[in-house]
Amino acid sequence: MVGWQAMNHADLDQLLILQEKDARIARLRKELAALPEQRTRLLRQMEAIKQKALDAKKEVAGLEKDIRDVEGTIENKRSYIGKMKTLQSNTRKNEEYQKCIQEVEKTEAAIDELENAELELMERLETAKESLAQKILKVQDSQKEMEEILARFDRTAETDKQLLDNLTAERADLAAAIPEDSLGEYERMTKSKGVPVIVPMDEKGHCGGCHMVVTDNARMKVLGGHETVYCDNCHRILH
Ligand SMILES: [Zn+2]
Repeated sequence: MVGWQAMNHADLDQLLILQEKDARIARLRKELAALPEQRTRLLRQMEAIKQKALDAKKEVAGLEKDIRDVEGTIENKRSYIGKMKTLQSNTRKNEEYQKCIQEVEKTEAAIDELENAELELMERLETAKESLAQKILKVQDSQKEMEEILARFDRTAETDKQLLDNLTAERADLAAAIPEDSLGEYERMTKSKGVPVIVPMDEKGHCGGCHMVVTDNARMKVLGGHETVYCDNCHRILH
């Protein structure tokens, strides 16, 4: 430690007040810096909710197309039956007549199967439509909720910036009243360690910064209260 000569013990009280401001400034800056990421996370969640609604919409459209396809096939088979029946009533050949009856029976059975499949598809469509309706509601609710949260972020940002301006001004006034050597040392320390750099020592002799027990010699000096004492471990100033 080279700075101990520069830090005047008499300036510690003022530096503690300055440090308290710096801690608040650092907290506000951190909060402000975290806002864009929180915003991004929120927008990403919203995208995922919208995507689920889009997927549900696709499922409904797919089922509707399957039903149309089945209906088209049924339609074709019905007209085939129509043709077979006309042929049946016009033919004079017994073999052809029998063949027509078989074809009609076979095609009717196929239509039965297709109609069952269509019913099943319609049930699935019903379920898919309900699910889609729920997901659309969820999108609407989430959209509203998200807009409220974003507005709150904006208000927080505005309040924080205002507070930060005020604190910065107050800090400048405080700093101007502190002797240059002590202030310089404090600022050099905060630059490398962040706040706090002046930490309390508890009654058992633990450093309030690194929580290690300070040496007996340092402890006596802190209790004496007349000189600047540094923690041997983390080199913060003890008070
Ligand atoms: Zn320490």
